[in-house]
Amino acid sequence: MSEDCIFCRIVAGEIPSRTVYEDDDVLAFFDANPLAPGHTLVIPKAHHEHVQDMPNDLAADVFAVMQRLVDPIETAVDADGSTVAFNNGEVAGQEVPHTHGHVVPRFEDDGGRPIHSIFGDRPDLDDDELDDIAATISERAE
Ligand code: 5GP
Ligand code: ZN
Repeated sequence: MSEDCIFCRIVAGEIPSRTVYEDDDVLAFFDANPLAPGHTLVIPKAHHEHVQDMPNDLAADVFAVMQRLVDPIETAVDADGSTVAFNNGEVAGQEVPHTHGHVVPRFEDDGGRPIHSIFGDRPDLDDDELDDIAATISERAE
């Protein structure tokens, strides 16, 4: 536990939350400032700042809970779909430094946009640049 982490304090029961799912390793609760009814956050109970900081099996558990909750959440609020996403790192908009997945119910004409819309101009990448980036990723993913 990180003493000054809001989500660790929720896990410890020091800050109340509206919990919708809990097991030994994962907790899911409503966002306090929801973007839509049913907006749910899914977190590892252990403190990890970024997605890539979690051990693989814990990351799999977190994603499994997100996947498991999508249908119940959509059903509960009669949604037409959902945005399922992580803001990973401060530059990407992560405000709470304890990794968390968002499940945000979506509705026809809700005025929201796809994840693509959060980006500005698209980069103009030539084949060499793409090959270099892909090679680095492949090597490091082994
Ligand atoms: P981020 O921008 O880090 O991806 O999202 C953080 C989310 O946590 C925000 O949507 C915000 O409303 C939510 N949040 C911040 N503090 C609390 C809290 O104390 N309780 C709950 N339930 N949600 C919180
Ligand atoms: Zn934490």
